[in-house]
Amino acid sequence: MNEEGCRDASQPVRGLGLLSGGLDSSLAVRVLQEQGIEVACVNFHTGFCIQSHTGAIRNPKKGAEPARHDALHAAQSLGVKLHMVDISKDYVRIVTDPKHGYGKNLNPCLDCKIFMVQKAWELKEKLGFDFIFTGEVMGQRPMSQRKDTFPVIDREAGVKGWLLRPLSAQYMPETEPEKNGWVNREKLKNFTGRSRKPQMALAQEYNLTDYPTPAGGCCFLTDENYSRKLQDLWNNRQTKEYSMEDIVLLKAGRHLRPANNYKIIIGRDESENNFLSGLKAGRLTIRAKNLPGPFTLVEGEPNEEELKLACRIAARYGKGKNHHEVTMVVEGKQTSQTFTITPMPAHEILKEWHV
Ligand code: SF4
Repeated sequence: MNEEGCRDASQPVRGLGLLSGGLDSSLAVRVLQEQGIEVACVNFHTGFCIQSHTGAIRNPKKGAEPARHDALHAAQSLGVKLHMVDISKDYVRIVTDPKHGYGKNLNPCLDCKIFMVQKAWELKEKLGFDFIFTGEVMGQRPMSQRKDTFPVIDREAGVKGWLLRPLSAQYMPETEPEKNGWVNREKLKNFTGRSRKPQMALAQEYNLTDYPTPAGGCCFLTDENYSRKLQDLWNNRQTKEYSMEDIVLLKAGRHLRPANNYKIIIGRDESENNFLSGLKAGRLTIRAKNLPGPFTLVEGEPNEEELKLACRIAARYGKGKNHHEVTMVVEGKQTSQTFTITPMPAHEILKEWHV
């Protein structure tokens, strides 16, 4: 666009897309590329993206492909520039106070979409692109991809007429890029509903084969277990706030809360032990002395009896679980104490302690 807001016709039309790296957003890019439109993409880091930590925390299953960042991988395959933008700080208010509420779990999808579209628009303006687009398909998701929610997103994000959805465009009102003749509406798609067959057929046509399964998910907020842990954190703090470290910590380990004033987080394998060990600052840690076992973090302020109980629980998950006695070492920044305890039998670990 030039200073008068008109685009320079000698330059290629440029669209900026939101790219998750999933099939739909990749196809949206290809549909526009097929028309000769110059495409670049943006991927947002919210703090809840599954790929940002999971690959680093979890040991890959034997023979499994190593973890990869889908958006980076897709951008590389599609030959587009990817802008990776960290929105995690401002995203807190979207998660803690979503105007449109939550989905099945603590996923504020509609507010999230509006926020990301706003951010994409800001970037589009900064970089001088002509319009923005997404890979959304009408009717595919219950909260944010519905015929009646698309206009809400466009209106509340302040992009009415300027957000193109190439995969469902033929079912939707014409957008400005179509009206201006920058994008050929005839070559856009008319996909609707939850079936992914049309997308898969189009992927085959484009020879796009290496895309993640839709079941893989990309956001911890749609995960029931994760949402439960986040809700537990809010309940116990009596405030809906979180830090980046809080939400990262919820991604790893076995979380047990034997009492309101403390919680223990037990590593489930070596990589989680290492990961939790990196987050020990400001917390007590528990390890078995001279025996292999999990690395355990203590959140909160347990008294001595509670600490002993925490040691008994932690010992249950270590090599000494069948020993009559195990010595556990509890360390803080400047403190170290040992407790000789009997590991707790499995049946004594109460169900309601598991967060
Ligand atoms: S699943 Fe997560 S990232 Fe995706 S729209 Fe919902 S809240 Fe946002």
